[in-house]
Amino acid sequence: MVKASLTGILACSLVVSPLLPLNKVGAEANKETVVGFSKAKADWALDFEKRFKEQVSEEFISHYSKSMSIRPALVASKGNKASLEFAVNELKEAGLDPQVATYDVYLSTPKKISITQTAPVTRSLKVIEDLPEDLAFKDEVIMGYNAYSPSGTVEGELVYANYGQPQDFKELEKRGISLKGKIVLVRYGKNFRGVKPDLAAQYGAAGVLIYSDPEDDGYLKGDVYPKGPWRPKDAIQRGSILSIYRYPGDPLTPGAPSIDGVKRIQPDQASSLPKIPTTPISYAEAEGLLKALEGEKAPEEWQGGFPFEYKVGPGGTKVNLSLDIEYSQEPAHDVIVKIPGAKYPEQTIVIGAHRDTWAYGSKDNTSGWSTTMEIARALGKLHKEGWRPDRTIVLAGWDGEEYGLIGSTEWAEEHKKELTENAVAYINLDSVAGQNFGASSVPSLNELIYSITKTTENPETKTTVFEDWSKKSGSEKPAIGQLGSGSDYTVFIQHIGVPSADLGFSSPDGLYHSAYDNTYSLETFVDPGYKQHAAAAKLAGSMALRLANADVLPIKYSDYASAIKSLTNEVEKHGTLGVDLAGVKKQLDEWEAASKELEEYGAKLTSKTELSKDELQQLRKINEALMQQERDLTNQKGLPSREWFKHQIWAPGLTTGYAAQPLPALVEAQQANDEQKFKEAVKALEKSLEQATKTAKAAIK
Ligand SMILES: [Zn+2]
Repeated sequence: MVKASLTGILACSLVVSPLLPLNKVGAEANKETVVGFSKAKADWALDFEKRFKEQVSEEFISHYSKSMSIRPALVASKGNKASLEFAVNELKEAGLDPQVATYDVYLSTPKKISITQTAPVTRSLKVIEDLPEDLAFKDEVIMGYNAYSPSGTVEGELVYANYGQPQDFKELEKRGISLKGKIVLVRYGKNFRGVKPDLAAQYGAAGVLIYSDPEDDGYLKGDVYPKGPWRPKDAIQRGSILSIYRYPGDPLTPGAPSIDGVKRIQPDQASSLPKIPTTPISYAEAEGLLKALEGEKAPEEWQGGFPFEYKVGPGGTKVNLSLDIEYSQEPAHDVIVKIPGAKYPEQTIVIGAHRDTWAYGSKDNTSGWSTTMEIARALGKLHKEGWRPDRTIVLAGWDGEEYGLIGSTEWAEEHKKELTENAVAYINLDSVAGQNFGASSVPSLNELIYSITKTTENPETKTTVFEDWSKKSGSEKPAIGQLGSGSDYTVFIQHIGVPSADLGFSSPDGLYHSAYDNTYSLETFVDPGYKQHAAAAKLAGSMALRLANADVLPIKYSDYASAIKSLTNEVEKHGTLGVDLAGVKKQLDEWEAASKELEEYGAKLTSKTELSKDELQQLRKINEALMQQERDLTNQKGLPSREWFKHQIWAPGLTTGYAAQPLPALVEAQQANDEQKFKEAVKALEKSLEQATKTAKAAIK
């Protein structure tokens, strides 16, 4: 029907979808959407995007989502295999050629989790939700447990430590409350759950219980499931406690793929594996533990939602944890689909979503994976009709994300060389169902995200996604977050230096990692009609197409340099241990100037109606420089605190786990009051910035 050679077809009315009102934002989008494209090419590219969006169908997404949410799909489970086969068949039926990449990884499986309160009364705690008898695949819902917790039996007095943040443990220490041999009760929230037992172990705790306080995502927030989306009293937040902020992926193969012939370290050498038995409980079960607790009154901010005064202990409550958890090598299966590029097939844009779930996982993350499958189906259909992107688009369904970003990390470690040479960008989709748009990315992709959201409709409000986002955030330039960790973009940005973005829709709820994140709650509270799923498919797909088809990649390092300037000023405010940051600042100025110059040069070339052979060659060089600069911000030695993390600007915080710690080496040296390390971090940063400046300059003729 439509052929690929339609480049240059008259399609100027397609800049803004006819569905959208031609208001100020729409008109603005008109000008902005064409960054990186020659006029003729822009029309073709926007036509391509429009046709892509027209293909995206709520019906297909709903079919994918319902079919895969019928059964839990935890990594290495029967349900995961069934979901894999379903996805592969559907993708084949859509005319695509899905490949399965399998890794042999070290995983934990709970055999028996017993938690007993031994004082002041004896009672055993429930470790799974009260699920209805006739629930499909009920027996495959895994009991509440924390992946990678060590096996073992520990018993001790209970101490309450709020959210288990560094300041919480310090507060207990200040009060002279020792955690030696104690069981620490912490609540979910504020930091990555793996940080809590990591810190507790450093204070000598014997074990950790993590519960969901009703104040944080339970009845104090609103109606609980099944009446509303908040956490009911029996719902347990499962989750991994692998120290992904040391390194994610298979704990036995740091920095290398878990394939045949790769050397595996011993578990006791794996610094990502947690040290003390840790397990999650519901608030119904936590209530009795907290209520019987004696000792000092807890600080005011530690008081949660139960209608009694929280105490810190010890005294009153004693607990026995007996965790029988088996460790074994198991398969993790990623699904990889490629839409080959016609002009630069070696250059790739990767869209990825994890396909494993803790239980039924309709939102986390069957939503992201169904959406990714739909992008693949829609692009596959256009491909059959003759539409070829210039660059290759790779669509990935990652396995084992819930255990510690396993599938994405192993795949990217296996393809590190190709990704380093040719990856243009990575786009992550993890939970895309909900009413509020949100994004995190490297600063160089901010403009592209604004531009894409200005040309996609929000199905709820019928305005653009951007308008709704801007309105809700109360800003004409809604904030785009920083990339820390906690999802599959980690290996791409932090380990390899691929410009990355994480896009999604969310609504507040309390069903995270419980057996109640299912089709009913998704269709009732989160995304009736799968409309936001479809909007997410349109956004991520158009962003990939924009990157795949651009004459000059819309990656803006002048924004990056300016963002790092602010981050540097922030570091400076906290004292530089007598070390001068003038060199870094000078280098940032130079990089900003060089990237502006490169951006102008790219714009000049794309504004021409015809390009000479030499100029086409120049475009190639510019694009290589645009991919390379993010790589230049990595350092092969890695961060002094964790060598797997190569990026000089972004890493997850060591005591936050998820949240980003910008300029990690500088800040960690600053916090340790280590002048020598601070100097070295400054030098490494300067070197990275100098390299990025050189790369930008070399591409300007
Ligand atoms: Zn997820």
